[in-house]
Amino acid sequence: MGNLSEHFDSNMFVCNCGQCRQEVKISLTLVGVLEDVWVKFNQPLAIKRAFVCDNIELEEPGPKRNYHGIGKAVDFGAAEEKFLPEIFRYLETFPEITGLGYDPDRKYIHIDLREKEPSKWLYQHGGEKELTPELRARYGLGADVTADRGKKSVSLDMPLEIPSVA
Ligand SMILES: [Zn+2]
Ligand SMILES: [Zn+2]
Repeated sequence: MGNLSEHFDSNMFVCNCGQCRQEVKISLTLVGVLEDVWVKFNQPLAIKRAFVCDNIELEEPGPKRNYHGIGKAVDFGAAEEKFLPEIFRYLETFPEITGLGYDPDRKYIHIDLREKEPSKWLYQHGGEKELTPELRARYGLGADVTADRGKKSVSLDMPLEIPSVA
């Protein structure tokens, strides 16, 4: 049992720049979604990157740094990589997840809670590609899944700021 949920502890979401004191800020909505995915797929999830402090230059393109920097984005992989396309499709059903990216080469999924227009994309060759039906088919993502944005599926509140441990 972690200090945030059954499988997650705040130390899994800390900044790993190596220079700060492992600062952390993480939305409990994201923790709730990840917990749901872990249980549904019976897959241990590996958090690759969650909170980032100002020391970190993200290689991810676009404005995603901002979401990592306020505890509203997580990049994660699964113990068995073959589950990632199915997990991506499952995440598409969550109205809370408004930013959803998949990197089939580096085997991770980015989720965020942007307040702007919901967006889905694919990371390819260091850039971001629009998720066309062709690309969806090529990476096993099937037909587009539309979330019911009028609904809420996660009951945890957000965001949570955890004091950093000295
Ligand atoms: Zn840091
Ligand atoms: Zn990310």
